[in-house]
Amino acid sequence: MLYLKWLNFKESQTNKQPFEYKCVSIVFFYKFIEMKTINTLSLFILFGMIATKSVGTDFNSKSGNNATEYAPSENSATSPCITEKEYSLLESRILENKKLLQSKNINLSNSSNSITLLNWPLRPSPDLTDCSYYHISAYVDQNTTSGLVQDYNCGSNTYDGHRGTDISIWPFNFYKMDNNLVEVIAAAPGIIIDKHDGEFDRNCAATTVSANYVLIQHADGSYALYWHMKNGSITTKAIGQSVIAGEYLGVVGSSGSSSGPHLHFEVWSGSTVATRVDPYYGTCNSLNASSWWTSQKPYKETGILKASVHTTDAVFPACPATETSNESTSFQIPFQGPGLSPGYAKFYAFLRNEVSGLNATLTILNPNGSSYLTWSYTSANDAKVRAWAWSKVLPTNPGTYTFRVVYNGVTCSSDFEITTSTGILSNGNSKDLKIYSSSSNRKTIFELKNSSIQQIELFNLLGEKVNHVNINERKAELNSPTSTGIYFYRLIDDKQLIYTGKLFLE
Ligand SMILES: [Zn+2]
Repeated sequence: MLYLKWLNFKESQTNKQPFEYKCVSIVFFYKFIEMKTINTLSLFILFGMIATKSVGTDFNSKSGNNATEYAPSENSATSPCITEKEYSLLESRILENKKLLQSKNINLSNSSNSITLLNWPLRPSPDLTDCSYYHISAYVDQNTTSGLVQDYNCGSNTYDGHRGTDISIWPFNFYKMDNNLVEVIAAAPGIIIDKHDGEFDRNCAATTVSANYVLIQHADGSYALYWHMKNGSITTKAIGQSVIAGEYLGVVGSSGSSSGPHLHFEVWSGSTVATRVDPYYGTCNSLNASSWWTSQKPYKETGILKASVHTTDAVFPACPATETSNESTSFQIPFQGPGLSPGYAKFYAFLRNEVSGLNATLTILNPNGSSYLTWSYTSANDAKVRAWAWSKVLPTNPGTYTFRVVYNGVTCSSDFEITTSTGILSNGNSKDLKIYSSSSNRKTIFELKNSSIQQIELFNLLGEKVNHVNINERKAELNSPTSTGIYFYRLIDDKQLIYTGKLFLE
């Protein structure tokens, strides 16, 4: 069991605000609009040829630079993943089910000489694009003295009496659960000895309601228990059927006594909880003499889980509400994010196992691979997981940019598009729009083929609206701005669809 609330994970936990996620994607339609130059004032429409470049300075909006740190809550001794009552129920069900299976001549495993090694019990769905998706929120407690804790590595990443490994999914854990983005898979081949489904799966604290789970017995007689899964996600295979390593068992959820979506993965060498082992081998593992993993992961996997660009701050509501990420892979210039300064977006780095003193290097790369903007962050203290966000000015030249974060030698990046001109004003005809200016009265004139355009707006490079006009006809005149330079126009039609482009006025 794991989360309860979002906590700041400075290993000592202080209350912090919660998290959220949901994808916002903006679809753009591109089209080139015919350029016309008429008379006097010369006026050009430029597509992707602007020579200016935004200055990459930090912006101290109310959302801040070194914004928010976020981390989830965990299960604890007072909110254990599996209660004593549930353990005894499990043990009795194993006895019953094995008897039943033996009576049907289903071939159960017998102790073999070698240990059945375990693969990682989770996998991301193909729809998950994050660089990684999990962290260990609690290992097995090796210290049997009540009130004292110790994990296999002689650290304290566990809670009193914890018999399994809690693997939490993060960030945006309820979003991941809602969208089946992290699957539980069989760590080793074996036979399903017990399973249960149909339980509520959005718990945030200890509860007497059971979890959705699968219990598998391996060839060496050992058992693996997969606990807290999503309601309705459990494999349709029946008790007594076999599974192969890597086979789907369910989706990570928060059923049973759980403080948030995570897998409680517990391994027994025999059919009772008293035979539990810790698959991680280390100096302070007194339960077993070697690692049970095919390939044991490091105690701390310090690195970057996700690097992403957002239209505004992500929203992390209290458990069990689903998070809203406000992430986007496309930004149309001029861009205005809610609560941000014109032209700025939020750049997020989701770090795992932060170590005090380690540096993160954050870079926005131009389409040609050169650096548009770079900055750094130094961890001030250790944390299991934490999100950081910075307000940075977006590029204005169209193209595909990359936001890259390097932390502890681990690189994670994501691409985003900058677009400046959009819109088809009629069915693919290129002569939809004429823009020209008149020197005699310093007017900029828009002639439209499409009569559905209702409003024209003009913005400067800072994203400030410098002029606008409502139109009823196919021709509109705006007073030209007094300063020469680059401007953006925006046309809004009767369906509130927006088309934009750039102008150079001189
Ligand atoms: Zn647990």
